[in-house]
Amino acid sequence: MQNLSAKIGVQIKPVFQSKKISQVLAPKEKKPPIVNNQCVVYKFQCDLCDTDYVGYTTRHLHQRIGEHKHSAIGRHLEDYGLSKSDLKDKQFSILRKCRTKFDCLIFEMLFIKELKPGLNTQMDSIRAKLFT
Ligand SMILES: [Zn+2]
Repeated sequence: MQNLSAKIGVQIKPVFQSKKISQVLAPKEKKPPIVNNQCVVYKFQCDLCDTDYVGYTTRHLHQRIGEHKHSAIGRHLEDYGLSKSDLKDKQFSILRKCRTKFDCLIFEMLFIKELKPGLNTQMDSIRAKLFT
């Protein structure tokens, strides 16, 4: 490298310069997928009919989606002759990001009242959740 530089009379620099440490440690701006959210009120929207479901989770949304394969949502898909694995992340959206479980309960209640989701039952009401 040194000899070559001297021969052709220009300074040869490596093409790939090593990154500055600040660049490496800088937080990535990329948004995480919605299923990695925690403590959220979410909505399931069936893509075959108008029916929907509102719920909350204090864990990662993807864990809750997994459980819904065995809930009213999973049964709803089966009513259409679909399998539980047809439940897709993209059918879920986040209505509200919460800070506490209490926030989740309150906003879930408000959204259920507002949206009247077809798949929610009495068991999903705030009273049922607080007293069971
Ligand atoms: Zn449906």
